[in-house]
Amino acid sequence: MERMEGTTLSTGLAKGVAVVVGYELQRTFVLAKVDERDSISRADVGLECERMDGALKRSQEDLNTFTSAASDTPSLSAAVELLSVHATMATEIASAVKKQISSSLVGVEDALDSVISGWVNRLQKLDSDYLREREIDVRDVGQRMMRHLIGVAPADDVEFPQEAIIVARELVPSDAIALANSGVVGIVTELGGTLGHTAIIARSLGIPAVSGIRNVTQRIAIGATLLVDGDTGFVTAEPTDDQLVAFAGCVADAKRRSIHESKIASGPCQTLDGTEIALYGNVGLQGDIDQVLERGLAGVGLFRTEFIYMQSKDRPDVESQRFIYAEMAERLGDRPLVIRTFDLGGEKLPLFLSLDRQSGTSNTNLRGLRFSLGEQNLLRDQLTAIVHVAQTANVRILFPMVIGGHDFSQAIAIVNEVMHECGASKRPLIGAMIETPAALFCLEEILELADFITIGTNDLTQYLLAADRELSSAHENVTVMHPAVLRAIHQIVTSAQQCYCPVCVCGEEAGEPEFVEIFIGLGGRELSLSPSRANRMRAAIGGIDIAVAKLLAKQALACRSAQDVRELFSQGGRSRVQNELRQSSPHLLASSP
Ligand code: PEP
Ligand code: MG
Repeated sequence: MERMEGTTLSTGLAKGVAVVVGYELQRTFVLAKVDERDSISRADVGLECERMDGALKRSQEDLNTFTSAASDTPSLSAAVELLSVHATMATEIASAVKKQISSSLVGVEDALDSVISGWVNRLQKLDSDYLREREIDVRDVGQRMMRHLIGVAPADDVEFPQEAIIVARELVPSDAIALANSGVVGIVTELGGTLGHTAIIARSLGIPAVSGIRNVTQRIAIGATLLVDGDTGFVTAEPTDDQLVAFAGCVADAKRRSIHESKIASGPCQTLDGTEIALYGNVGLQGDIDQVLERGLAGVGLFRTEFIYMQSKDRPDVESQRFIYAEMAERLGDRPLVIRTFDLGGEKLPLFLSLDRQSGTSNTNLRGLRFSLGEQNLLRDQLTAIVHVAQTANVRILFPMVIGGHDFSQAIAIVNEVMHECGASKRPLIGAMIETPAALFCLEEILELADFITIGTNDLTQYLLAADRELSSAHENVTVMHPAVLRAIHQIVTSAQQCYCPVCVCGEEAGEPEFVEIFIGLGGRELSLSPSRANRMRAAIGGIDIAVAKLLAKQALACRSAQDVRELFSQGGRSRVQNELRQSSPHLLASSP
């Protein structure tokens, strides 16, 4: 038996048989030195270019086959979008390869190796985690074309045994897509981040996945029985009988929970006393709307539009954005679509702007709204697309990382100008994200201008607690449950309510039931969270007694550390509070004695 701990990429439990994907399949592209490459004669250039075209054609055929297979599965819409990105990439790679063949007089394999290595090296050097993750897409496409060139069957044809758990150093996105309907029940890898496509696809397929286990392909033997716990990140190889029994118990519990949660998924979302809580979805890709609809959510509370920019090679134009927003809004019907304008800058930079940065022409060190105000043409294009769609749909604008009345009013002025230019008469509601300490100190002036506000707990927590949100997520005190963050949220909710300004909370921890109980206790009534967590949240909210939540929130605000706040919940705090209320003011309790 070996128990290994990794990072969870996709939640859920799986028991199965290890299928170790051989590393040799995953050809690494190593830039051969030019003088080591075999040169070709000018007369062979045409032939080598034709071979490239042939490999491109066969690769495009593979991608088309995947697309048709994946198009029937709504949860795979993210994958379908990715496949079209791969198809575009393949065309660009092939054209760069052909140029290289004729300029350097090298064979097609060497040219492909060189082009892919060049792209990969450039992406690896970028500051952005997101773009570094895109390097795997380039390798995936390159690998596919290389396999066709050298006549090795693409790995897509591999048949998996029943209940297979894929163990690999890393999976390239198209490997992950090929897992749909393949009977694969789990994924364990050494590499792969939570922002990566493999994680996104595993989540949309509902396959538990764990990454970050060193030397995983050597530590797990082919055919070994594996237990994958995507909730905690533990993987057990060759479990003992006791571990198998305990795991079966967890699987049965999870099944019961999920049946219970899906039963209440279609009903209203309300607390024990019938207070309605509006549950919205956070989305990043067009296809995520499927889950918002499937889970009966009240709309989209946060559409992170920067993904559109991150996936695009060129500046997205007004028309293409208009198409995306209109399609999403149409699918939502009357439900609101809150479009957050691109939150770029700092480590989040699309390729077209990274190139500007290398030439020193971009203001990319700024973040959020300041970055957008420095990239006014980009912002104007996005606002123009939104304003157009908002004339006939329930679309709202949300500006990221507002720091005060000054930057917020500049942004609003641009909306007004854009409306004037478009001849638009209906002004969409405009909101501000409250996620910086500056916004806390300038709350009044922001509230004077805002139609609604949204609390971004991810950034608010990192900036208030001076902790990097990517690196310190495992630290017990770096959480929205820290009293400093809770007090900030209390202040925001109270001020917003005084101005009758709707306030919603989003951010990863908006999906944590204990935080939500405090938030509701503080007066919050709107949440936006990852749709995959909605059923669980609806069930948790159904058990909340507002009177208990209020008292718990009051006690949490008086705590000294996040640990103390958690102890409030873990050490029977909720029933203690319930008993206190039962003694002092039983009429306040919705729960029966
Ligand atoms: C946040 O900061 O909480 C938030 C929702 O925005 P993002 O995670 O996109 O920065
Ligand atoms: Mg944020």
